[in-house]
Amino acid sequence: MSEDYSDCPRCERMHERRIELAEIKVRDAYGKVTQSEFEALQQKVAHLKEKGCKQETLTEQYEHWFDSRNRFRRRYNCTCEECGFNFIADNVEEEAGDELSFRDSDLEDEDE
Ligand SMILES: [Zn+2]
Repeated sequence: MSEDYSDCPRCERMHERRIELAEIKVRDAYGKVTQSEFEALQQKVAHLKEKGCKQETLTEQYEHWFDSRNRFRRRYNCTCEECGFNFIADNVEEEAGDELSFRDSDLEDEDE
């Protein structure tokens, strides 16, 4: 089993949406709030963009093996420590058939 860390697709979407909502607030506030309030809203957008999305919060685990029916199996599992995103894929990929066959001559000892 191997383990990796990568960026979380859900966190990225949430981050994009946070920026979008902050930008809408700026637009809606135009001409309705004081200059300093307006600037504070603009700063929030700038801050969000600058801060960016937290990276490498996603722990990914991969496994592959042949099961007892000679099927190539692949399992993937990821969890985000930041937003709780969790995804599991457990697929039967391919059954090994011809690849398993051999001739008796293949059985000869190598040192003969
Ligand atoms: Zn996440």
